[in-house]
Amino acid sequence: MATFVYDFTQGNKDMKELLGGKGANLAEMTAIGLPVPPGFTITTEACRAYLRTGREPSELAVQITEKLADLERRMGRRLGDPADPLLVSVRSGAAFSMPGMMETILDIGLNDESVVGLAAQRGESEHSAWDSYRRLIEMFGRTVCGVPSADFDSVKLLLDDPKELVAAYLKIFSEHTGQPFPQDPREQLDLAVRAVFESWNAERAVLYRRQERIPADLGTAVNVMAMVFGNLGPDSGTGVAFTRDPATGARGVYGDYLQDAQGEDVVAGIRNTVPLQDLERIDPAAYTELLGHMATLEAHYRDLCDIEFTIEHGKLWMLQTRVGKRTAAAAFVIASQLIDEGLIDADEALARVSGEQLAHLMFPMFEVGAATRPLAHGVGASPGAAVGRIVFDSRRATALAAEGEDVILVRRETNPDDLPGMIAAHGILTSRGGKTSHAAVVARGMGKTCVCGADALQVDVERRELTVDGRVLTEGEVISIEGTTGHVYLGAVPVVPSPVVRYFEGSLAPTADRLVAAVDRLLRHADERRRLGVHANADTGPDAARARRFGAEGVGLCRTEHMFLGDRRALVERLILAGDDQARDAALAALLPLQQADFEELFREMDGLPVTIRLIDPPLHEFLPSLEELAVKVGVAQALGQDPGTDLALLAAVRRMHEANPMLGLRGVRLGLVVPGLFAMQIRAIVRAAIAHREAGGDPRPEIMVPLVGTVQELETVRAEAEKLTAGFPVKIGTMIEVPRAALTAGEIAHAADFFSFGTNDLTQMGWGFSRDDVEGAFFSRYLELGIFGVSPFESIDRKGIGRMIRIAVDEGRATRPDLHIGVCGEHGGDPDSVHFFHDAGLDYVSCSPYRVPIARLEAGRAAV
Ligand code: ADP
Ligand code: MG
Ligand code: MG
Repeated sequence: MATFVYDFTQGNKDMKELLGGKGANLAEMTAIGLPVPPGFTITTEACRAYLRTGREPSELAVQITEKLADLERRMGRRLGDPADPLLVSVRSGAAFSMPGMMETILDIGLNDESVVGLAAQRGESEHSAWDSYRRLIEMFGRTVCGVPSADFDSVKLLLDDPKELVAAYLKIFSEHTGQPFPQDPREQLDLAVRAVFESWNAERAVLYRRQERIPADLGTAVNVMAMVFGNLGPDSGTGVAFTRDPATGARGVYGDYLQDAQGEDVVAGIRNTVPLQDLERIDPAAYTELLGHMATLEAHYRDLCDIEFTIEHGKLWMLQTRVGKRTAAAAFVIASQLIDEGLIDADEALARVSGEQLAHLMFPMFEVGAATRPLAHGVGASPGAAVGRIVFDSRRATALAAEGEDVILVRRETNPDDLPGMIAAHGILTSRGGKTSHAAVVARGMGKTCVCGADALQVDVERRELTVDGRVLTEGEVISIEGTTGHVYLGAVPVVPSPVVRYFEGSLAPTADRLVAAVDRLLRHADERRRLGVHANADTGPDAARARRFGAEGVGLCRTEHMFLGDRRALVERLILAGDDQARDAALAALLPLQQADFEELFREMDGLPVTIRLIDPPLHEFLPSLEELAVKVGVAQALGQDPGTDLALLAAVRRMHEANPMLGLRGVRLGLVVPGLFAMQIRAIVRAAIAHREAGGDPRPEIMVPLVGTVQELETVRAEAEKLTAGFPVKIGTMIEVPRAALTAGEIAHAADFFSFGTNDLTQMGWGFSRDDVEGAFFSRYLELGIFGVSPFESIDRKGIGRMIRIAVDEGRATRPDLHIGVCGEHGGDPDSVHFFHDAGLDYVSCSPYRVPIARLEAGRAAV
């Protein structure tokens, strides 16, 4: 027979899945001798059975009866005894903390008779018994029977005698439910347990789980616990405590205390709390005892704990603890402190922080103390801090942005029509939707600050205004949004670079403050532990220099096409339009010294480290003017009887090169094999730059990477030509693996390659058969909503499908060439979860954008411990 009920003396902290976090930790506190009111936990398994069948499992009632009898024996009171009643709370508690999402009912066991008995016991403070009964009718009515809280609130203001309130509440209850308030204490208990089971599927709980990606089928445990009372006068009270500051990680006593109150009053914010330190004055003995328990818990959990406690007539009771949530900054600081305190080792500390937290610490942020009270709160959907003028539609967003204004696009929610506005905007703010909404998905894809679901905002797009808290903001007014916290502020909050970035940049010493010192320490440890190398994607000297300061051990991807933009575009145009060999050679000859200078700069900045240069990749028409614009221009000239001049030839060329699916067209190695001399020019530039740098006393380490190879013959052809050109300076020649066919024939391709680098952006596009630019804004949010994706495959590598191709290519490539050097240079190289996959798949390095380098270092270290 399954055990569905555990006494607090039977469980421990490792039983979260079965007992929920709250229950497991109550058991743990009981086991280590802290003063926890006795009680028992009904398992998540019982909840799952109830949710599956709509009925409590048949053994449950008997098991509750047994445990309740135990509890009554220990307390020397019976549940709802008319003379001296035992009261209990019925508290939800899932395996993952879902703060405030589900239900808790206090004071079960009170009825018309037992309240009189309790009042008699209470003597002078008899009113507190009636107050408890009132609370029970309200909580029970609301959570078990769905009586609207507004009905209770309406009389609460009119009556202040608790007895009269009880009478009024009982009336409201029976009017609303058609039943009298249940007087049988056991019936109250059973109904409350069932209500907690059902609260698992309450709308807000479902929404919260979806946003936090918590599985939907876990169910909640239910804790039944003897009531203790913080509302028995000035020598009683209730509070919350943190063993360190969850905002900064600073050591000390943090928390709030409320005298003469029940726990729910603190959360409800009905009365003003005092800082926990004040308890030292109010009740020194309880304060000292609490500090002792806090130290015990920290040493026991070896981490920051948060605590709920209640004092009843000077007696301290511990009602809840858990390893506390904390900000990204506090996570680093605390992990480092705990090493110093000998509670954890450096490997464990590494496990306690994450690349995502480090990423948060690297975004520019609002100046500390500069922000006033937020105007509204939403979901922090894409981190960063953005300040700008409010606009309500794409057209205004693009128009104002074109005038150089920073704008924040404000919408109820976004859809694909809003894309241009989202691109133009500095930040995005919506009043509806969460982390998987269209706005959130697209903003993250673009790396743009976004706050979603700020539901206090009423957005009126037609009238171009938004109303919040009775205040009307019109288009053009300035607001500030913080994508980490989800806060929205009125006016311009000053934005400053993050201290962590200033430390990476070298403008802040690692000893400058606690946070920077902690980041420095944990990154160093990650560097010691990691097996994966970390390179950067960089195309210019300054980018490469920054990447190196951030810890990059080479350039894993230099995109040479970026070097053909700006004023060099004209040269490329000449190359494309060349009518004969002579004209083409002249264009190439003009480009050669420019390319050479580019590479020399990179070799200088990355002296002694590998620089992997990808030969030109994108379709040539990207360098040409737009077909439509040019056609109009030529048409107008001809209509006016003017000579369109060179535009005519240009138009013909653009027409000729126009592709329906450029992503699958003439690009990469195909281009190199079709346009004579193009790759050769680039390879010459690489060799000359390397020789020049070596002659200047440097140590250049160029590598040549061929893009978009699908078959070994392509690579062999390029290689044969390249080897002739690199005779003066032997260079490694390798290929991107980004076409599915290349991954599946990697064993062959490895014969012609010194190294592989996975181009996971293209591999993802081609593997899934969708083009990123077209699909991300069009339907990804819908797919996330439907649960078809847990996360966009462009954000985090799809292990099952694309990952499988990667594993095949690694295995078969290395079977051909055991020393094959393998890396990845798609954006996934800087994604925490993907880094773990690349570690597991046996890659040698990841390459990512300079700002992601520290994140990849940290995660590569975490993957290795
Ligand atoms: P949540 O998970 O939303 O924090 P809890 O189950 O912790 O809900 O309960 C809400 C409040 O009720 C808490 O502040 C807690 O201190 C108080 N509470 C719960 N059980 C008891 C009890 N047995 N005696 C006194 N107060 C209680
Ligand atoms: Mg709680
Ligand atoms: Mg590619």
